[in-house]
Amino acid sequence: MNEIPATPHVINPKVAAANEMLKKKMATATLVSKEVFAGGRLGVFKLKPDLAPRWWYQAGQYTTLGLDTPTGFVPRAYSIAGSPLDEGTIEFYIALVEGGALTPTIFAQEAGATFHYLSPKGKFTVAVAQKQTLVMVATGTGLAPFVAQIRTMWKQHLAGVPSTYRVILFHGAAYADEFGYGPELTAYAAARGQGFDFTYIQTSSRPDAARGWNPSIAKGRVNEVVRHVLQQPLPDGRTVEMPTGVDAHAVGALIDPSRTAFLACGNPGMIEDLKEPLVHCGISTYLVEEFWKA
Ligand SMILES: Cc1cc2nc3c(=O)[nH]c(=O)nc-3n(C[C@H](O)[C@H](O)[C@H](O)COP(=O)(O)OP(=O)(O)OC[C@H]3O[C@@H](n4cnc5c(N)ncnc54)[C@H](O)[C@@H]3O)c2cc1C
Repeated sequence: MNEIPATPHVINPKVAAANEMLKKKMATATLVSKEVFAGGRLGVFKLKPDLAPRWWYQAGQYTTLGLDTPTGFVPRAYSIAGSPLDEGTIEFYIALVEGGALTPTIFAQEAGATFHYLSPKGKFTVAVAQKQTLVMVATGTGLAPFVAQIRTMWKQHLAGVPSTYRVILFHGAAYADEFGYGPELTAYAAARGQGFDFTYIQTSSRPDAARGWNPSIAKGRVNEVVRHVLQQPLPDGRTVEMPTGVDAHAVGALIDPSRTAFLACGNPGMIEDLKEPLVHCGISTYLVEEFWKA
């Protein structure tokens, strides 16, 4: 295990006692791989449940992960980024929060470490959305439930199950080297026209070529790129640019309000900002998963 940075956290004794009680109810899983990137601030963690050979959940659900930290046992919710059709692992896409109570300890773990986890929860699923066009909007690691959903659709597509969905994914990050799962999602988008109707748009709010930005990536905040595609006004003085060769109107034309659900995950400010343009466009199904409270 790497050294865990000192954290200012002191856990309230009542919370600490509740956390220890929770730990007793949790199952254990072993970290089998850890891939850290973007200067150590983002990571994909794969766990293998210790007792069950498979672990069932619906793509889009989350679980609670917990670890012993220098200030006691800390549990936190994490969307499951892996598909339930993956072979035997549970996958997570996690951002390191400097000074956070749990994530510095998560990032310090190495293969072989034991994590604690709870049963899956949540209704952030395509079954709940109940529409044929799904517009998915993510900031940062808010991408996780969408990876689970899109990878599952892809695996079903490969198995010969015809997909009934049109999916448009907008992923926003500050810098272009923060687009986790970029190659995987780009490969799925390349199959468009072969029975897999998937459009993938990355957007960088700090487009810096030194950090990997190139013209195939949009410029601007993800909620503002979505507003632009929906032909809704941007806040005063704000601008966005679409990726080279991608026409905002053509993307907007893929979205028929009566057949479309929007799903948004990550930053609560992004989620809030989309409410008004969606109402204006007559889109009534808006599922959200906030990673923290505004
Ligand atoms: C349903 C649900 C699913 C979640 N899924 C994920 C996931 O798949 N991946 C993930 O990275 N996080 C996810 N989170 C957030 C996660 O539960 C923790 O809040 C986060 O990892 C910080 O934990 P911490 O103890 O290190 O920080 P804390 O000491 O709890 O500090 C929390 C603060 O960190 C900030 N923060 C929280 N999450 C993030 C984030 N992702 N990026 C940047 N800043 C953040 C916020 O300002 C928040 O107030 C999810 C939260 C919920 C409620």
